[in-house]
Amino acid sequence: MAARWFERRRVEADLTLIWEPHVNPLLRCNIWRLKGRDADLLVDTGLGLTSLRQAARDLFETDVLAVATHVHSDHAGGMHEFDHRLVHEAEAEALGRGDDLFPVDETRYPLEVRKGLAAIGYEMAGGLLTAAPHRGFDARRHALKGCEPTRRLVEGDVVDLGNRAFEVLHLPGHSPGSIGLWEASSGILFSGDAIYDGPLLDQLPGSDIVAYQNTMRRLLELPVSVVHAGHDPSFGRERLRELARAYLSRFE
Ligand SMILES: [Zn+2]
Repeated sequence: MAARWFERRRVEADLTLIWEPHVNPLLRCNIWRLKGRDADLLVDTGLGLTSLRQAARDLFETDVLAVATHVHSDHAGGMHEFDHRLVHEAEAEALGRGDDLFPVDETRYPLEVRKGLAAIGYEMAGGLLTAAPHRGFDARRHALKGCEPTRRLVEGDVVDLGNRAFEVLHLPGHSPGSIGLWEASSGILFSGDAIYDGPLLDQLPGSDIVAYQNTMRRLLELPVSVVHAGHDPSFGRERLRELARAYLSRFE
């Protein structure tokens, strides 16, 4: 059993990165907590195998606006723990149902899917967890908990923290309701899985390669200072443009 399930690192004064170190990179999501004046922003919530709210309670002083950048299990598993649950309208029903597209039990992935993931760098032969999140945990019996969103987001909506505000960018492709949270004044983008510095997944159920190309064209034009993504390290505009161009070049 893991002594501590979540690790964290303060990235800036008000921004903390939380992650699950005992999880295979395929499912190791970046959980971002940004402190605001009137509310805290929580971008994604991890797998929901053990309580994030409890583990990070010292970070949550005011209302927590939990935003799922999309509802894949590694991002939305812990959403049910929070009072304010925001998700794009295209994935609201999936959040309610608790769709578990990325189970933590590797035997539930069809062989073809495992082969496909291994071919692009996501090997799950050793299992998806390297420790148990709590005593008695059984990956085969774990079920993702569905929850109703309290707010359905669409393009152009604003998530307001009082002193800071993030605009919702609808960035479909990886999934139909993938969003980014964009603060124009600082150039900060929380990008979820729309873009990250690792192998991108565009052939999942619900993925749309044409939509993904349009998302990449849009990201190319975005004057970001930093991208805090759903996986892997953060990066700046040059790297964003490289990653977006690399994706688009596959189709040239
Ligand atoms: Zn995803």
